[in-house]
Amino acid sequence: MKKIIITIDGWSSCGKSTLAKQLAKKLGYVYIDSGAMYRAITLFFLRNHINWSDKLAVTAALKSIVIDFEYNENSRQSEILLNDENVEYLIRDLVVAEKVSEVATIKEVRDFAVAQQQKMGEKKGIVMDGRDIGTTVFPNAEFKIFMTADITTRVERRFKEMVEKNPNVTFEEVKKNLEMRDYIDSNREISPLKKAEDAIELDNTSLTMEQQLAFALKLAKEKMGQ
Ligand code: C5P
Repeated sequence: MKKIIITIDGWSSCGKSTLAKQLAKKLGYVYIDSGAMYRAITLFFLRNHINWSDKLAVTAALKSIVIDFEYNENSRQSEILLNDENVEYLIRDLVVAEKVSEVATIKEVRDFAVAQQQKMGEKKGIVMDGRDIGTTVFPNAEFKIFMTADITTRVERRFKEMVEKNPNVTFEEVKKNLEMRDYIDSNREISPLKKAEDAIELDNTSLTMEQQLAFALKLAKEKMGQ
C-alpha cells in the first residue's frame, strides 16, 4: 500500500486534532500537531520576554529553540518538547492562546516551523494538522481535508476542554479567543488559513467522531490505493 501525506487544515477548535489522531492510529501513521509548534515558540517568547516585533530578537531567540515530539506511553500520544522539557499541557493555557496567532504571523517563525514540518514528512506516512499544511507545507500531499464546524459548536467544545483544566475560564473568554485567532489566521499576509483547491471539505457540526472517522478513512484508503 502506498504511503501518503494527509493534511488537515481548518478553523480553531473544529476537531482537527481529534480526527488526525484517529486517522493516524487506524493507519499506523505518525501524527504531527503543527499548532503545538507555534504554541511552544510562543511559550518560549513569553517566558523569555522576547520582543517579537523586533526581527533580530526573534531570529536570535529561534536559535535557542529546539522542538521535538516524543511518544508518551501513558497518554498514548505524541507530546511536544521545548528544549527537552515536555510542554504539551502548558501550551494549551489561555495565556499562550492569546498570543500564538500574533506570533504565527511572523515570517521568521513560520520559516522555522515549516522547515521542520517538511522534514518530518520526508518519509511520508504522516497526518499533520494546522492552518497551512495543505497549502504551504505539503502542497503536493495526496489527501487534504479542510474542516469546518459552526462557531457555537466550536466554542462549546473548546470551553468544555479548557474549563476542566482551569475552572476560572469563562465561555465568553474562549469565544473571543477563537474569533480573534480565526480572524488573524485567515487575514495574515503569509500562508493565511484557506482551503487548498484540491482539499475536500468536512463540516463536522453534526457528525459523531465515528462518522467523521469513517468518512475520512474511506477516502484515505482510496488515495493509498487500497
Ligand atoms: O492548532 P492550534 O489551535 O493549536 O494552533 C494554535 C495557533 O497556531 C493557531 O491559532 C494559528 O495561529 C497557529 N498555527 C498556524 N499554522 C499552523 C498551525 C497553527 O499559524 N499550521
